[in-house]
Amino acid sequence: MNIPFIDLKTQYELYKDEINQEVLGVLQSTQFILGPQVSKLEKSLADYTGSKHAIVCSSGTDSLLLALMALDIKSGDEVITTPFTFIATAEVIALAGATTVFVDIDEETYNIDPKLIEEKITSKTKAIIPVSLYGQPSNMDEINLIAKKYGIAVIEDGCQSFGASYKNQKSCNLSDIGCTSFFPSKPLGCYGDGGAVFTNNDVLAKKIRTLANHGQEERYKHKYIGINGRLDAVQAAVLNVKMRHFEKEVAKREEIGIRYNELLKDSGVTPPLVKSDRTSVFAQYSIRVRNRDDLASKLNLSGIPTAVHYPISLHQQEAFANLGYKSGDFPISEKVSNEIMSLPMSPFLTKDQQDYIIDTIKENV
Ligand SMILES: *Cc1c(COP(=O)(O)O)cnc(C)c1O
Repeated sequence: MNIPFIDLKTQYELYKDEINQEVLGVLQSTQFILGPQVSKLEKSLADYTGSKHAIVCSSGTDSLLLALMALDIKSGDEVITTPFTFIATAEVIALAGATTVFVDIDEETYNIDPKLIEEKITSKTKAIIPVSLYGQPSNMDEINLIAKKYGIAVIEDGCQSFGASYKNQKSCNLSDIGCTSFFPSKPLGCYGDGGAVFTNNDVLAKKIRTLANHGQEERYKHKYIGINGRLDAVQAAVLNVKMRHFEKEVAKREEIGIRYNELLKDSGVTPPLVKSDRTSVFAQYSIRVRNRDDLASKLNLSGIPTAVHYPISLHQQEAFANLGYKSGDFPISEKVSNEIMSLPMSPFLTKDQQDYIIDTIKENV
């Protein structure tokens, strides 16, 4: 049996008529940048998350950069985040000119450990970026409380968690600013690059929207140094169709994730733990295994693709050598990066495919 890691083909086949029609409509309108598809998407994203404002932009990376720019984060400032994430989370801190301060993760959820944050806060700290890794939000109440005490901002990197919730509130609407990505393989993906920024703050929302369009408030009047960070209308059209089906897909993801967890219990691998006060959209379904590379090659031989999110903690990346961290500084992150392995996951994974994956794991672990 050959199983796709993320089944974008089945999804396209299912929504093909609607997607083709909407995309063709954009081509015929020749309104390629901004316009009605973009406004419609922003409204439905705001409605979905309950956030007052949703500003779509060019990528998840740019959504994070725009958040930092809107908060005036610059050289001399410090931003706290986790070393166990995709590079973009910390890359944007460096791009804004600020210094990344890493805090180790919690071994149960793989998200930043709130207990370790406070000791890293200095007079230079301007923001905390918790990452809702694999689709599960962090302990946001605890993080928001710490931030409030020190008067600093919280930006949720929800690039993997759009659709998840924490205490019945949607991801991306859990802090001052929420950011997400519509990269094709994310839970809500477009057919290229895309992202969005969410906030309930009118002033920040206006600034983010302006920054994403070259700092331009009126045509050729530039209030800030911004970026070309807009989402194009073709991507908005694809997302508008996918939003119609998204609730159903989130339910499927949850069902498949929970079924994996049940069937992998006592199998010798460690399934992900989802805390009882939140949900995960399982952007990745990631297990921990001692003999990871060995099991991965056996699964691959059986037609089951796997991936590692992420094999090297960010503090050990050459790109961040200037931060002066060394191996051993974040032991949980380092340990998990050696054991973590993602299995095929999508709302279209069938029971047969899932049973085959589980049986193959049990035979080889
Ligand atoms: C995908 C991702 C990003 C970046 O999103 P892009 O749309 O690829 O720029 C940032 N942070 C995390 C945690 C991600 O998974």
